[in-house]
Amino acid sequence: MSQRPDDTAAATGEFLHDVLLDPARHTPDHPAVVEPAATGAPTVTTYAELTATVNAHAATLRALELAPGTRVLLEAELGAESIAVLLACSRAGLTFVPVSPETPPDRLRTLIDTARPALHVRAATGERTDLPATLGTARFGDGELTVERAPAATARRRHVPCVADPAYIVFTSGTTGRPKGVVMSHRAVTAFYRGMLAHRIAAPGDRVAGTSPLHFDFSLLTLGLALGSGAALVPVPQRLVRWPRHFLRALRDTNATQVTGVPSVWRQVLRHEADRLSELAHLRGVLFCGEEFPLPELRRLQELRPGMRIVNCYGATESMAATFEDVPEPLPADLERLSIGHAHPGAELLLRDGDGALVDAPGTPGEMLLRSPALFSGYWDDPEATRAALVPDPLCPESGQVVLRTGDLAVRGEKGELYFLGRTDSQVQINGNRVELGEVERRLTGHPAVTAAAALRLPLPDGGGCLAAFVVTDPSGGARQPSRPGAAEAAPGEDIAATLRDFCARTLPGYMVPAELRVVDALPVTGNGKVDREALAASVAGPA
Ligand code: ADP
Repeated sequence: MSQRPDDTAAATGEFLHDVLLDPARHTPDHPAVVEPAATGAPTVTTYAELTATVNAHAATLRALELAPGTRVLLEAELGAESIAVLLACSRAGLTFVPVSPETPPDRLRTLIDTARPALHVRAATGERTDLPATLGTARFGDGELTVERAPAATARRRHVPCVADPAYIVFTSGTTGRPKGVVMSHRAVTAFYRGMLAHRIAAPGDRVAGTSPLHFDFSLLTLGLALGSGAALVPVPQRLVRWPRHFLRALRDTNATQVTGVPSVWRQVLRHEADRLSELAHLRGVLFCGEEFPLPELRRLQELRPGMRIVNCYGATESMAATFEDVPEPLPADLERLSIGHAHPGAELLLRDGDGALVDAPGTPGEMLLRSPALFSGYWDDPEATRAALVPDPLCPESGQVVLRTGDLAVRGEKGELYFLGRTDSQVQINGNRVELGEVERRLTGHPAVTAAAALRLPLPDGGGCLAAFVVTDPSGGARQPSRPGAAEAAPGEDIAATLRDFCARTLPGYMVPAELRVVDALPVTGNGKVDREALAASVAGPA
C-alpha cells in the first residue's frame, strides 16, 4: 500500500487539533484567542484565522518529511502564535515538547539529549543561542513559520499518524535528578478533554484566561477548556501574572469571564488589589489546580466575588488532571479540607491502603489509584519509572490493564467524595510547581563543597510555601563552615548560599532554586535513619 507523505486524511480517530479546532466548523468568526495588548484593544484571532495559520504551518512541517511522532521542541510563551504551532504539530503528526524560554542552557541541553527532537521552534524574537548544529531550527511570527535550518529527514517507516502517537511530552521534575518526560498520546488527551468538558465549566462566549506558562500542562488543560468549549483563550503573559495590578488590567481589558491558575496567582491580588478584583465586571469563574488553596484566602476570594463559581481541579501531569469539584459557597465555618470530589466522567479513583488492600469506607485513608482512558503512555525513555507509576489494575490484575499510582493520599467522605491528605513521597508543590526534592538535593551535592543536602518545603505564614535546603559542607571543597557547631546557622554566609543558588540556577528552573539555604554541621536523622525533615523545618521556625 502506498501513501503520500502528506496523506493524513487516512488518519482516523480524534486528535488533539480535532477537538480544539472543531468550533471553526460552526463558529469560524468567533474569537479563539484574545491577547491583552500593552496599550489599546486586545488582539483577537478568530477560529477561522487560527485554523488557516495551523494549516499553513502544518504544510511547512510536512514538507520537512519527518516521521510521525518526531519531536519538535517548542520554546515559547503561551500565545496565539505558539498555539498555532502546537496545533500544526498535531495536524502534521509530530510530537511537541513545550519548554520555557527561561530554561537554563544546561537544562535545555539535557532535554535535547533526552528527547532527541529534530526541530527547535521559537518566536522570531527568541534569544536562544548555542543550539546543537544537528538540530533543525525554525521561528514563528506574523503568522509565518520559517524554517532556518532544515532538520535531517528522519527514517519514515510509516506515513499516517495514529491517535496512539504522542501528542506532546511535558518534562517535570524527576526523582533521579533528571527531568522526567510525561508522554501523552492524542487518545489520552482527547479522552481527558471529553471528561473535563462534561463538567460544563465554560461555554461559547466565555473568555478563559490562562495564567500558567506553556511548558506546564495546566496551560494545555486551559487550552482544552477554552477551545473545546467553543470559548476563547486569553493567554496572560507571565510578566503580567507576576504583577497583580497588570494582571487585573489584562483581565479587565480582555473581558475575561474565567481564570485558571495555581492558587498562588491570587495571593498578591487578594492582598494588594482587592478593590480592583471586586470591580471586574465580567469575571464569573475561577478554576485552580496544582495544590491546595489555603482556606482563609479562598474565603476572602468568595467575599470579594460572591456568586462566582470556583472549581477545585485535582490531578497530575500523568493524566493532565483527574477531578473537578465546585467549591461550596459559603465555605462552612468548621470546614477543615476542601473536597476534590470524584474522578471526571469516564475515569475512576480507587484508594489502596499500605497493605495493598482496596479501601472504600469513609474515613479510611489510602493512596489514590487512577483508572482512566486519559493516562499518560509512560515516562520518556524510562521504563523503570513507568513500571513504578503504571501498575496492574487491582480490580482485575489479570486483564493486563494498568492504573496510575498517583502518590497522593486521600480519604473518602460520607458520600464517597475524596479529600486530599498529602503525598506518600518527597514530591512537593512550590506555588503549584511540582518539585522532586531529590532532584534539588542531587544538584546541591553535585557542588564540590557540599557533602550532604536535604531540601524541603517550608510553609510560609501567608499561606504559601517556599523551597528550603540544608547543606553540610566540606572546607576543602571551598565552602565556609558553620560558625556554631551543632546548630543550623541563623544567617548563613551569604557567600556560600549565593554560590549554591547560582549553581542550582544553572541547571534548574527558578522555582527549584532554594529560596532559603542554610549550612548545618550534620543533617539530623530520625530513628530509622532517614533525614529528619521535621527537625530541620523546626530549626528554621524556632529560635536561632
Ligand atoms: P498539574 O500539572 O496537573 O497541576 P503536577 O503534575 O504539577 O500537576 O502536580 C501534581 C500534584 O500536585 C498532585 O499529585 C498533587 O500532589 C498536587 N495537586 C494537584 N492539584 C491539587 C489540588 N487541587 N489539591 C491538592 N493537591 C493538588
